[in-house]
Amino acid sequence: MPRIQRLSQSLINKIAAGEVIERPASVVKELVENALDAEARRIDIAIERGGSQLIRVADDGAGIEADDLPLAVASHATSKLSGPDDLFRVGTLGFRGEALASIAEVSRFRIRSRPEEATSGAELTVVGGSVGDVAPCGCPRGTVVEVRELFYNTPVRRKFLRTVQTELGHITDVVSRLALGHPEVHFTLAHNDRPVVNLPPVTTLSERIAALYGESLARNLIEVESEDDNVRLSGFVGLPHESRSNTKLQILLLNGRAIRDRALQHALQEAYRGLLTTGRYPVAFLRLDVPAELVDVNVHPTKAEVRFQDGGRLYSQLLSTLRMRFLSTDLTARAEQASSEEDAAGAHDPETARRYRQQVVDWAKGRLEEIRETASRPDLAGAPSVPPPEERQPLPMGRLDRPAGEWTPGGSDQRPPAVSGYGPPPSGAPGRDSGHQTTESGGEEQRAASPFRALQVHNRYLVTENEEGVVVIDQHALHERILYEQLRRRVDDGPLESQGLLVPEPVDLDPVEAAAALENQEVFESLGLKIEPFGGNTVLIVRYPAMLAGLGPGEILRALIEPLVSGGKPPDRRDLLDDMLHMIACKAAIKAGDRLSSEEIETLLAQSHLVDDAHHCPHGRPTAVVFSRKELDKHFRRT
Ligand code: ADP
Ligand code: MG
Repeated sequence: MPRIQRLSQSLINKIAAGEVIERPASVVKELVENALDAEARRIDIAIERGGSQLIRVADDGAGIEADDLPLAVASHATSKLSGPDDLFRVGTLGFRGEALASIAEVSRFRIRSRPEEATSGAELTVVGGSVGDVAPCGCPRGTVVEVRELFYNTPVRRKFLRTVQTELGHITDVVSRLALGHPEVHFTLAHNDRPVVNLPPVTTLSERIAALYGESLARNLIEVESEDDNVRLSGFVGLPHESRSNTKLQILLLNGRAIRDRALQHALQEAYRGLLTTGRYPVAFLRLDVPAELVDVNVHPTKAEVRFQDGGRLYSQLLSTLRMRFLSTDLTARAEQASSEEDAAGAHDPETARRYRQQVVDWAKGRLEEIRETASRPDLAGAPSVPPPEERQPLPMGRLDRPAGEWTPGGSDQRPPAVSGYGPPPSGAPGRDSGHQTTESGGEEQRAASPFRALQVHNRYLVTENEEGVVVIDQHALHERILYEQLRRRVDDGPLESQGLLVPEPVDLDPVEAAAALENQEVFESLGLKIEPFGGNTVLIVRYPAMLAGLGPGEILRALIEPLVSGGKPPDRRDLLDDMLHMIACKAAIKAGDRLSSEEIETLLAQSHLVDDAHHCPHGRPTAVVFSRKELDKHFRRT
């Protein structure tokens, strides 16, 4: 049995480093937090090679006395706690006194500092945990910490570092969060001497949000505020149409510290219940100002999570504040206003949208026509066939009680028909009253050729029937799905055409998005979207997919980046392609509220067969529900 031994200080520091320093961004977080604790007004961050080569954080804060420098890099030495009670009312970002020691253990580390009143500065170097001597040096007031070759002595850690762009993305993320908590502080971030972020001091959170994420996002936010006893909630939440596919833009600042909190995130989602479809997350920048003694920040190694004394009360405060706010805000009007402001900025107008929709429909139809032509030539038997309407089978469709979105073919013993659709009613029932739009516009001839009839109600649903019962179709969902399937087939057939832009379009992104975009340059290119770096967080779009003509290139790029920055496994080309097709389909599809002509309804129903054997489903929303005759009979007590 091996004997129990005390660990060496160096090993203790390495273990601590393992918890606190996960990647370069963790170092940046600790160093910037120290600068903020020292009440810096300006913090300059310089990074080389994603932080693995160099991280330098310079501040103009209080500085450290020369004699204290060895203590600053010693573990469990801090100026931020003086008595045991302090731990339960932490007012600073740091308090454990182990960050510098941990960082210096796994890097080549140098700190230079000069307090206001000192005549000269002092510096100290630590290499892999071995501390040198304090030496005088000239330096401006404040502190500069340089961390070179992070993880040089822990190769395993080093191996886990991702690409430069990914690490830079994490760093900009960290800096953004810290900057949101401290709008009054000037932040700059440079990568390989190239400026990435410059955030001059401002007075309000909303100005900082605008500086970080753009004016247009800032315009789409609603201000919220409430106070309950001594807990103050303030900040901004996004209009429903500003939602995202991930929770990255849900920023929660507890006493100036960005935290994660599942319960509060849940409250946020709950407040938007009914306003967002599944898989969409609201944008939120919320500050919670809570007396320090009501929260324990000492529960997580990087202090990313905290424990509230009364979490339940915070949950309901957040939920009720948002609900009340939504009740008193006309969200639709706000959304329209916001989008008309965007129109004014030249983004989109209804006419462009219509033209664009037509383009995509024509484009996709081109493919459809080919299929039809092939089918009508007997010499090409075996090719996808479209039987004459009389032979079409009514489509067994998803029932109300089936999981949304899947049109499961009914009897599994039957092979699904090659092509199906909303066929003629089995008994050839006559058309309905003329008060509504129906498809019975044509003469006898046309009727024979167009057995697809339906009633459009509320300009959003199509009511029809099949063998099983009454079918209610969501016109947007169906069209979206049809377009998606058409696009998908077309794309599976060959490479995407792309067209060069006469004038390359610059797109301003946030730092994380910019990093993600450049890192995935090649994938985008295989989709026909060619981008190039343009300095700062701007990328240039040089070519883009021909089938997307009509959609703003910037919009396309942003939509494609979204899944990349949502974390987790990076999506591959197929996922991205799929996202792109979803986006086109959704944008080009008729909308709820669009009044359809008889022909349009016919065309739509005639193409519904494309959907029935689909393996993909754009947004997971059902396209139709069936009220079976059995159910109806039961309802009307006919059984
Ligand atoms: P903690 O922040 O938990 O106290 P650190 O290891 O991060 O622990 O820092 C140790 C000590 O070094 C701090 O308590 C502080 O006194 C001093 N220090 C570190 N960075 C700075 C800085 N940028 N400006 C002034 N003092 C600093
Ligand atoms: Mg610290």
